[in-house]
Order: sequence, then C-alpha cells, then structure tokens
Amino acid sequence: MSDTFPVAVALVARDAQASTGHAIRTSAMPLVPVVHPAIDIDLRYASADNISGRPLYDHGQALLHRDAMAALVRAADLAAAQGLRLRVYDAWRPAAAQWRLWQVLPDPAYVADPRVGSMHTRGIAVDLTLADAGGHPLDMGTGFDEMSAASAHGCTTITPQAQRHRAWLAGLMALSGWVHLGSEWWHYNLPDAARYPLIDDGSQAPRFVDAPVA
Ligand SMILES: [Zn+2]
Repeated sequence: MSDTFPVAVALVARDAQASTGHAIRTSAMPLVPVVHPAIDIDLRYASADNISGRPLYDHGQALLHRDAMAALVRAADLAAAQGLRLRVYDAWRPAAAQWRLWQVLPDPAYVADPRVGSMHTRGIAVDLTLADAGGHPLDMGTGFDEMSAASAHGCTTITPQAQRHRAWLAGLMALSGWVHLGSEWWHYNLPDAARYPLIDDGSQAPRFVDAPVA
C-alpha cells in the first residue's frame, strides 16, 4: 500500500530519538523497527560488548528494510511455533559503523569493505541466534562475532547439540527467505543484495579513506 511507507518512517524517527536521544535521519529511508513478540533485541554494536570493545553506533533500536522485516517476521513465527525465540545482535548498520568495524578487522572474510558496502548498511542483513522460551540463547558452539573456522556453517568440531541448534536456525531462516553466509552462523541476508541501495543516515562520523584493503 502506497500510504504505509511515510507512516513507518515517521515511527522510526520518533522512536529512535525517544529511545536514545540520537535522532536518526530517516528521510527517504525504507527502514522499519524490528518488533515481534518472539524477538529479543540485544544490539551488541550499540554497546562495548563487541569485537571492537566500544560502541560502533549510538542508536538503540534494531532497524531493517521493510522487505527484510517481513522475512524476519516469518522466521520469528516459525520459531514461536516451536516454543523458541530469536535474539537479534545486529540489523541495519550505518556506513560510519561499517568503517569503524573495518578498522578493527580489515578482513573481507568477516567484514565487508565499507568502500563496497555491507549488506547490513543496505538494511537487508541480520545477525541473530535462537533462544529458548525464556529468552536464554541456545549453545551455538561459538559466540557471536567469534571470527574463527569453528563459526562456519557445517563445522563438525563443535558439539552435536550445537550443530543441531545451528541447523534449527538455518532451517527456519531458509524457509523464511533468507540466505546464509558460510563463515558466520549468526549472519543471514536477503538474496539479490545488489537490488537494495546502501542506506546511510548521513552522520558525520569519520571515514577512514586510507584504510588498507586486506
Ligand atoms: Zn552480519
């Protein structure tokens, strides 16, 4: 429906400012809040609890492209039907945050070169895990953002239980229209990423244009 988009954008702008004090410039941004009764939000890059040791952005609300949110609702509905929950660690990522992440880990196996652009900055990628009905994350064998071979899909050196948990997550995400990234069990994105433009909030955080290309 053509009249739903402005309403969604206005909602994002108001909620983002109210919850964090930081106004995300959302004009012409097709982002919507991640809200679902079976989804918990735990934005690691909004805190110091991530591989950089400091916050990478200061918005406290998970946002996704509306196409991605529709797919995440399907996944959350499937999880809820099994008595499970989803726990979202990262969703839309501003371009400035991608630059900061690249400074910490300039390895394209794990972090998209910000000059190319991340699928997170397109709003069509989500980092997440499965949790039990009480919201406690299931054992996935490695932690979120553990950049090692053990975090890859199909890794058989983790426990059989952790392999099953990864398979549950992969199954319900695949059935909901997401594709996986081989090196990270927590990352899923919509197919045909190039169809979606990068979404920048126009923040003036530094771009490290001289960063080396790994
Ligand atoms: Zn990701």
